[in-house]
Amino acid sequence: MDFNIASTREEEAFRQEVQEFLKQEAEDIDIITNSRGSFGEEGNVATRRMARKLGQRGWLSLTWPEEYGGRGAAGIPLKLVFTEETSKVNLPGVNGFGLEMLAPILLANGTEEQKRKHLIPLGKGEVFWCEGFSEPNAGSDLFSLQTRAVDNGDSFVVNGQKIWTTGAHRSDWGFFLVRTDPNAPRKHLGISFLLIDMKSPGVTVRPIQNMAGAFDFCETFLDDVRVPKENLVGKLNDGARVAGALLNAERSSLILVGRGARRSADRLLRYVNESGNNGRLRGDKSVWMYKLADVAIKAEIASLFGKYAYWLQSQGRDYTLMASLGKVFSSELNQQITDLGTQLLGLHGQLMRGSKRAWEDGIIGQTYLTSHQSRLLGGSSEIQRTTIATRGLGLPRR
Ligand SMILES: Cc1cc2nc3c(=O)[nH]c(=O)nc-3n(C[C@H](O)[C@H](O)[C@H](O)COP(=O)(O)OP(=O)(O)OC[C@H]3O[C@@H](n4cnc5c(N)ncnc54)[C@H](O)[C@@H]3O)c2cc1C
Repeated sequence: MDFNIASTREEEAFRQEVQEFLKQEAEDIDIITNSRGSFGEEGNVATRRMARKLGQRGWLSLTWPEEYGGRGAAGIPLKLVFTEETSKVNLPGVNGFGLEMLAPILLANGTEEQKRKHLIPLGKGEVFWCEGFSEPNAGSDLFSLQTRAVDNGDSFVVNGQKIWTTGAHRSDWGFFLVRTDPNAPRKHLGISFLLIDMKSPGVTVRPIQNMAGAFDFCETFLDDVRVPKENLVGKLNDGARVAGALLNAERSSLILVGRGARRSADRLLRYVNESGNNGRLRGDKSVWMYKLADVAIKAEIASLFGKYAYWLQSQGRDYTLMASLGKVFSSELNQQITDLGTQLLGLHGQLMRGSKRAWEDGIIGQTYLTSHQSRLLGGSSEIQRTTIATRGLGLPRR
């Protein structure tokens, strides 16, 4: 497949099928969007329902090999169409941790038993995953992590604490980085990658409220959790390599934040048109028009970054640099758009959900507060710039 942005007839037919589905499901999508992210209780039920519907259609596993429920190489362009269409409405039910991050890792490093056990229910939308990497003292410096897994015959016994575990309170399983060799000569050499059933005795999850009022991420405590050895992915003490590949996949999927930029820009456009017509627009309309045009240009660039990173990934080529470039660009654009929203609406933009005078139920204030986190999750902008400078520009690390 070349890097080609024209669609075939089959892709266009698939696009229409997805668009039709999204129209039918508009009510559920609204419930989830309005329930403070997909992690409120009502939103969670609707998210699970949506995941099963997507799974039944085979849309969650389009690119996987056929034996695990996918369409193989034929699914690669279809997944791009699916992502393009669904990002227009911020479709819930696509468990990115499982589908975008863990699945490629299992396909490349998992045992046959792990693939069958985990990929098939994941592709059917029956199982949700979370990511247990960060710890209170291990974020950017991830390989300083202290959670210990001690060999206990046919299992490991795991003790430690994870933090910022997104959706842990709604997840069935988690993939975790743990220290299996505290005496390794370099800290990244003593780490392993484990799959942990979140219902295991000893796993305690405490949701944390973010500044927008939502309970999206959690603290996760592991106290004497027994994890069968068959849940080790890759070799013992090779978890840093496995995690590196997974983090690339995470960044590449986060470029979706950039695809959502178009949606956020359209929202501001709607505001300018509405308030221009009813005389409530602050300042000179032409100034806002220029700013919106600027954002529209960048939203297109973000979308192309996403397509290119996806294409490199689908060809099995190194996409580390593109994932970092795209992640920085998309997350910072996201923040720029929400900043523009608060400038446009002024104090009115600070009214939050529930206020009867808030525009579109306080969406501007809400997205402003949550946009800042996108610069941190999946590796901060500073860390990505270091990767770009060293791997992309060839500059020395020190
Ligand atoms: C919304 C959200 C969801 C998340 N979800 C998950 C999840 O599901 N699972 C999970 O494991 N983690 C998750 N994280 C954690 C995320 O991966 C970390 O926040 C990130 O790696 C940064 O780590 P930290 O928060 O400890 O910040 P620190 O590492 O303490 O960094 C603080 C600041 O210092 C800067 N800094 C640090 N080191 C350097 C350096 N060497 N050079 C230049 N600047 C530096 C950083 O850029 C940052 O601005 C999530 C985070 C957020 C915000």
